[in-house]
Amino acid sequence: MVDEGVKSDESRHQEPSQIEVAANAVKEPAPAPPGRVERRIRQTDLPAHFIERRKHPRIRTEQPPVPAPPRFEDYAPIIGKPELDEIRFLARHLRSKTVKMVNSTALGGGVAEILNRLIPLMNELEVPTRWDVITGGNDFFEVTKGFHNALHGGDYNLTQQIQDIFMAYSEQNRQRMEFAEDLIVIHDPQPLGLVRSKPQTQGKWIWRCHIDLSNPHPGVWDFMKPMVEQYDAAIFSAAAFTRQLATPQYLFYPSIDPLSEKNKELPEEYINKVCDDFGIDRSRPVITQISRFDRLKDPVGVVEAYKLVKKYVDCQLVLAGGGATDDPEGAVVLQEVMEAAGDDPDIIILNLPPWSALEINALQRASTVIVQKSLKEGFGLTVTEGLWKEKPVVAGAVGGITSQIVHKLTGVLVHSVEGCAYQIRYLLTHPEFAAQLGKNGKAHAKENFLVTVNLKRWLVLFQIMLGMAKPNETI
Ligand code: UDP
Repeated sequence: MVDEGVKSDESRHQEPSQIEVAANAVKEPAPAPPGRVERRIRQTDLPAHFIERRKHPRIRTEQPPVPAPPRFEDYAPIIGKPELDEIRFLARHLRSKTVKMVNSTALGGGVAEILNRLIPLMNELEVPTRWDVITGGNDFFEVTKGFHNALHGGDYNLTQQIQDIFMAYSEQNRQRMEFAEDLIVIHDPQPLGLVRSKPQTQGKWIWRCHIDLSNPHPGVWDFMKPMVEQYDAAIFSAAAFTRQLATPQYLFYPSIDPLSEKNKELPEEYINKVCDDFGIDRSRPVITQISRFDRLKDPVGVVEAYKLVKKYVDCQLVLAGGGATDDPEGAVVLQEVMEAAGDDPDIIILNLPPWSALEINALQRASTVIVQKSLKEGFGLTVTEGLWKEKPVVAGAVGGITSQIVHKLTGVLVHSVEGCAYQIRYLLTHPEFAAQLGKNGKAHAKENFLVTVNLKRWLVLFQIMLGMAKPNETI
C-alpha cells in the first residue's frame, strides 16, 4: 500500500550530474560555515528576488538572547486548567520529597534540553529537584562516546583499560557527590556507575535510558547490565528500545515544549519574513525536512522523492539542517545533497546555525508537508515538532517514529524513495486528507509528547517508587 503509485524513475541514476559548484563553494568536503551553501541555481521565470535569496539566504549570524523559561501556569491555554490541576494534585503529595537528577552535560544535547525545562517546573510545583552533572576528563568522554556507539550496535573493543577508566571516573564522581534525596534519577550510560552508592543511601534509584538498547554490542552490554540491575526502575523511550532486565521497566516518551522557541505559536508576519529571508515562495506547496546532514536521515533520498513528485505537482523542497561546521561527515553529506539537488531552483538547502529555533519553527509552520525520511532513528523529535504544528508528516517507518505515526491516522509511514514520493504527491493533491492527518497528529502529540505529559509521568512514577501508589492503579 505504502510503496505503490509513483514508479521508480530508472533514468535518474543515469543522468549526468548537472551540478557545477560555484567557484567559492566547498570543493573538498571541508566544513561550510552556516549559511554559505552556494550552488549554481538555474535561472527560471521565478521572480528575481526568490533566486537571489535562494543563492544568498539571510541567515542570522549572532545568537539571539535566550528568553526566560515559561511558568507552569503558562501551559493552561494549551492543556487546559483541569490537566494543570491534576498535575498540581500529583505534585502536592510529593511536596516533602526531594529529587536529584544526574546527567553528563548541562548544555547541548536532548537530555540537557529536557532537564532545562523539566527541573524548573518540578521546583515550581514544590518538589525540590536538584540537577547535578558528572565530570570527567577527555579519556572518560572518549570511553562513553565509544560506549554510546557500541550500545547502538557498533563494533567495539572493550579492553580492561577502558573498563578501568569508566569505573575510575564513576568512583571520582561518587566520592564528590551526595545522594541524600528520596529519589535519584540517573540519565543515560555515562553516570550509570554512581549506583554503587545505593547501598549507603535511603532513596530509590531510577535509570532513565534515552538511547536505543535493542541491538547493543554484547561485551559492552554485559559490562553495563549488572549496574543497570541495581536500580529500582529503568525507563526507556520506546518499547522496542528495551532489554530483558531484572529491574522493572517503564515507558516514557521524549517530549517537546510547546512554549519553546522551536514550538510556540508564531505570527503569520514572522513566518512570511523567514520565508522571504530564505527565498521560499508561499504561493506554492513547500515540502520540508529539517535534519542534521546525516546519511541516516536520508536527505538524498528526500531529494529523489521530491524529483518524482515534481513531475506531477509544482512544489519546492526545503532541506534545512546544521552540524556541518563541526562534523566532518556532515560536510560530506551536505555536499552529496547539493550534488543531488543539482541546479534545480526549487530545492532550497539551508545550513543553519544552532540558534535557529525560531527559524525552524517558522519553516515547519510554512510547510505543506513535513518529511522525515530517516533510515534509522532514535525517537525523531522533528516528527513530534511537525505533528504538534498540525502538519501532515511523511516519515520512515523506523525507531520511535512508529510510536508517533499511526499510518494514515496521525501521518504516513514510508519504506522507500518511491513510497515517500507517492505519499507526498497524494497529500499535495488531497488537502482535506492532509488536514485531517495534521489534526489527528496534533491530538496525538498533545496526548503523549508534551513536556507536561512527561512531568506527569515523573510525578506518578515517583509516587509508585515511594509506595504511595501502585502501578496498575495509576498508569
Ligand atoms: N534541529 C535543529 N537544527 C538543525 C537540525 C535539527 O535545531 O539544523 C533540531 C530539530 O528541530 C530537533 C532536533 O534538532 O528538535 C533533532 O532531533 P531528532 O530526534 O529529530 O534527531 P537527532 O538529530 O537527535 O538524531
